[in-house]
Amino acid sequence: MDLTEKLRTLWRTTPAISQNFPIKLGESHFEEFRITCNSCGCDIPDEHVHGRVSSVIPSVVSIEAVGLCQPCLLLIPLNIRLRSDGSAEFVQHGQWVKSFGVPTALLPRLGYQLVQFFRRTFCTR
Ligand SMILES: [Zn+2]
Repeated sequence: MDLTEKLRTLWRTTPAISQNFPIKLGESHFEEFRITCNSCGCDIPDEHVHGRVSSVIPSVVSIEAVGLCQPCLLLIPLNIRLRSDGSAEFVQHGQWVKSFGVPTALLPRLGYQLVQFFRRTFCTR
């Protein structure tokens, strides 16, 4: 299965990720989850961001998500870990990178960071 097919399958077989929010982790509170299209720059509507949320240990939540931008017909993957200290990690070049330590509830900002990351990584223009 190639990457595109994997993303399609994930999108088809999982519910809207917004159903899992807000996520409370210890003292940290993650209000929402946002993916912005790296082609047109639009926020992808909640109902078009699908994925799964899992927790292997109580202080960490893993999110595997994919957003569908309908105007661009683009699938945008996002793998991220949220930690109870309010920090987040995401995958960069196949490795988990701690992006920053945020004092909770700043996922819109986090979304922005990820947009920058995805633009650098995937935007061909
Ligand atoms: Zn788009």
